[in-house]
Amino acid sequence: MDPAWQDEPPPQTEFAGIRLIRTPPGRELVGVITSDHITGCPTHYVHRRTTPCTGTSCTHCLDGLQPRWHGYLSIRSMYSETQYVLELTALAAAPIQEYLRRHGTLRGARLHAKRVGDKPNSPVQTTVSPNDTDLRTLAPEVHMRRYLATLWSLTNNGQPHSTKGADQLNNPPETVSYVRSECTFSAPPKPPEQPAA
Ligand SMILES: [Zn+2]
Repeated sequence: MDPAWQDEPPPQTEFAGIRLIRTPPGRELVGVITSDHITGCPTHYVHRRTTPCTGTSCTHCLDGLQPRWHGYLSIRSMYSETQYVLELTALAAAPIQEYLRRHGTLRGARLHAKRVGDKPNSPVQTTVSPNDTDLRTLAPEVHMRRYLATLWSLTNNGQPHSTKGADQLNNPPETVSYVRSECTFSAPPKPPEQPAA
């Protein structure tokens, strides 16, 4: 049998090389936001994976698991063109939402995120500031709903497969507040109470 020669490599999938990350412990994460806004969804942590809550008929909710909201942003490294998708809790997303309210878009802004504590799930503090970014040359934002649907291997009816998908996050999510709501996408919850400065 002859090999099936094909001199052109297969086209890359849309999200090839774009990793999902959380804020690492022990060092500050700095990047330029390429998303216009946060895409959010209540999620469950099941079998060491984050899976989306699917709302009123969600089997995990029916099993008594509380959903927890997570927000997602695409960011570009300060030093290269590498793009990442950053997962954030409601607490960490609140300052970003505040920036969005004031500026109308997150795209091009500079994001600093760091954990207040040494544990992989210590709470994350974020700050967003205007940045002298050339928006014409900034990488296009990651189509977040499509990215997450691919990651979560959603079928058309919104139910996640149990085994497919490559969730690269294997540390448990932060133990902070959650919201109980339908899977709304891009409608983050009211920001939690800010701790006194
Ligand atoms: Zn649920």
